[in-house]
Formats: sequence, structure tokens, C-alpha cells
Amino acid sequence: MEIFIDDIPEEGLTVHADSAKDPWFAEVVKATIGSRFGGEDRANISVTLIKCEENVDITGEIDIVSHPSCDRCLNAYKEEQTIPFHILMSPLYESKQQENEEEGLEKELIKEDFEFSFYEGDRVDLSEIVREQIYLAEPFKHVCKQSCKGICQRCGKDLNKGPCGCKDDGRARPFSVLKDLKVKK
Ligand SMILES: [Zn+2]
Ligand SMILES: [Zn+2]
Repeated sequence: MEIFIDDIPEEGLTVHADSAKDPWFAEVVKATIGSRFGGEDRANISVTLIKCEENVDITGEIDIVSHPSCDRCLNAYKEEQTIPFHILMSPLYESKQQENEEEGLEKELIKEDFEFSFYEGDRVDLSEIVREQIYLAEPFKHVCKQSCKGICQRCGKDLNKGPCGCKDDGRARPFSVLKDLKVKK
């Protein structure tokens, strides 16, 4: 979804998209987090673009309901994500001098609570922004709940449903096998 800078009116332009109704948005979400975004899952975006001279100030929020599988117990669970973002985009110039000026500006702005980016030509690529924001917000691990006990390393039982019959003799721990390794001389 590309937005032409010239199409942004003085008062700004607000774009809403719903994964159930807007194929471009559904495609970006699926391409980014397809493994946990099922047919019943939903994502929405609301974004406002405001022109400030040649820059474009972009403020928005992406809301996603998905069903990842827990990295500990492997069960699918419902996850609700809210991803707010604020990006200031400047035109990308080819002239070296202007580039240097932009870099200086970037350093100044980096302390603020918004990102700084560039748009090329006469348009802003909203699909690319959505993709990037979802990637940036992607948690390192998906865990159904902080107290999730995971599965037994030995028998595979979901320990959230109660203890398994395995005795913890140390052998069930990952890497415990290393103890038994003998180095041949
Ligand atoms: Zn879990
Ligand atoms: Zn077990």
C-alpha cells in the first residue's frame, strides 16, 4: 500500500485497515507472522500521516490477535498485541551534501521517542512500515503465561497438567548427556 505524498491533505490523512476486509493489510500480516496468524485471527491498523514541509510524520497503532504456540509447552494460546509507532520520514536525497545533513538530523532525533526513516520518490510505502513495526515488536519468545512449566524433557508430558512420573535424576535436563561423553585419546 503506497501513499502518495501529494495525496496527503493539509489536515493529514488517516488510514484504517482491517485484515478481514483489506487484502493488502492481511497479506503483509500473514507474510510477517503467518505461522501464528490463523484464519480466525484479526489485525487492525489506524495510522495518520501529516506533512511537515517535505517530511511526513506518521503516527499509528497496529492491533493483532493471534495464536502462537508456546515455546515452553507447545500449546497454542491467544496473544493480543498492541504496537504503537511514531516515525518521521524524510525524502531520500542522492546528493552527498544533503545526505550528510540528514545524518546529522538523525543523530539529533534519535534521542526522541520516535523513529527516523526515509521515503523514496513521491510516496510512502505503508506495507513496508507495517512489516517493519511487526518485526520490531516480535517477542524473543512466545510464552503462554509466565508461570508455564513447559513439558518434561524426558517423557514430553505437559507439566502444567500435573507432574509426570519421571524421577529427576539429573539425566532429564538438557545437556546432561554431556556428562556421559568420553573423550578418546
Ligand atoms: Zn506454555
Ligand atoms: Zn517426564
